[in-house]
Amino acid sequence: MSKKKAEKIFRYLQIIKETLNQQVTENMSANRVWEKCLDFIRENVPQDVFDAWFRPIKPVALKGDVLYIEVPTNLYYEWLETHYLELLRAALKKNIGPNARLKYLVRMTNKPQGGTSHLTYPGKQSPRVDTRNYKPHTSKEIKSPFVVPGVEKIRIDSQLNPNYTFENFIEGPNNRLAVSAGKSIAKFLGNTSFNPLFIYGGVGLGKTHLANAIGIEVKRLHPEKNVLYVSTEKFTQQYTSAVVNNTRDDFIHFYQMIDVLIVDDVQFLAGKTGVQKVFFQIFNHLHLNKKQLIFTSDKAPVDMRDVEVRLLSRFKWGLAAELKSPDFETRKKIIRFKLEQDGVQMDDAVVDYIARHVRSNVREIEGILTSMIAQSAFNHKPLDLNLAKEVIGNFVSHRKPVYTCDMIQKIVAEYFNLDVEDIQSKSRRREIVQARQISMYLSKKYTDSPLEEIGSRIGKRNHATVIYALKTVKNLMDVDKRFREQVLDLEKTLTGL
Ligand code: ADP
Ligand code: MG
Repeated sequence: MSKKKAEKIFRYLQIIKETLNQQVTENMSANRVWEKCLDFIRENVPQDVFDAWFRPIKPVALKGDVLYIEVPTNLYYEWLETHYLELLRAALKKNIGPNARLKYLVRMTNKPQGGTSHLTYPGKQSPRVDTRNYKPHTSKEIKSPFVVPGVEKIRIDSQLNPNYTFENFIEGPNNRLAVSAGKSIAKFLGNTSFNPLFIYGGVGLGKTHLANAIGIEVKRLHPEKNVLYVSTEKFTQQYTSAVVNNTRDDFIHFYQMIDVLIVDDVQFLAGKTGVQKVFFQIFNHLHLNKKQLIFTSDKAPVDMRDVEVRLLSRFKWGLAAELKSPDFETRKKIIRFKLEQDGVQMDDAVVDYIARHVRSNVREIEGILTSMIAQSAFNHKPLDLNLAKEVIGNFVSHRKPVYTCDMIQKIVAEYFNLDVEDIQSKSRRREIVQARQISMYLSKKYTDSPLEEIGSRIGKRNHATVIYALKTVKNLMDVDKRFREQVLDLEKTLTGL
């Protein structure tokens, strides 16, 4: 080999070595930064979300302010961008700096999963790699609630929905306790034992409406008081930005100025330890100073999971009032009221028919009425029984009822003359085992809960037990006619068909 050739080869080797070294350092710092980001993210999302969406992400390289991460599929990329953009941004800003950017590398999707990654090193992008830019979306920037400096006291825009008043809220046996507690709170502000007021119940039963109505009534009777309505989601976003911008103290001070704090849908605090901590701190300050707290949730405090015990115990300090589904008479009143508001006439027989058939919640009643009124206006149909049947028929067939594992266990227990505690127990008695297995089977079929959750809800079993139960029920249904009839019977009870 000539000397010249040897030198040339040596130079090539040198370049390759340098490039490799550079890649290794970039990789290492990417790992370190991403680990820190993960720590932050872990604090702000439930564990299962974290495991499903964030754990599988691989950091690839850190080049300046740009972190390259690899996600398995396009779906991942889209899901992260739509659901966790703010969180990712927060995590990145915190650990890289204000100009942090994220680039996604999507493992190939147009080839069947072969196990190998088609990822190439950023900088030499192969056309098969889908790289997308993460840009701060200024339009999506979260603003803190509007603060208007007043003469004596800082006034806060209460963010209440002016349509959600007590006048527009029909009372019935299903909501009486919550309504009267709410009215007392407004009247005797700071002097009732309903603190916090915890309003809970299923979707569309009026939790948000009622919570706003209390706020509006407080403002009417005590205009000088600072009332604030905030959804748990917004509260969480505000907190996350406050952490990033190093304004956590301002955030806390802001919330500590409030006289009546209404937080909607606190079930979304579940699993978010960082937010729960700050929530707890604000709660304590306000409660100690006799400020009123009002929360809503889709579950009773005792049924809430993944919320710190100390916070749960505080939810139980005041009054927990349940909103139930309205009964027939109340449903009729609600229908009449809504029709009157819209200036529409309807025969009693039609009102009765709707009230009899649309039972689950008020939002659904509103949906049916709106749909009927629209149909009648556009298609020149009278608002009669036929139209009601047609609209309700469409609605019911497209509706996916919301079942929970707890609801299913109750129905199964009742059907077999057992207690829910039996199903929850460790008992190996045949009838109890079967009831437990059927509960798991129906939960799989009628809820969106993952197997782990079904297992943990139904007697704290693991997901392998659930899989086994599903198989057993299917097999038994094939061979045992009586068993099959029982399961089908239960399904009928559940779906009301
Ligand atoms: P939730 O927060 O419990 O899901 P909402 O408060 O959003 O339910 O209520 C759903 C819809 O039903 C809203 O438009 C609300 O105004 C209406 N609504 C609920 N309960 C009543 C009621 N008792 N009287 C009148 N309207 C009601
Ligand atoms: Mg609501």
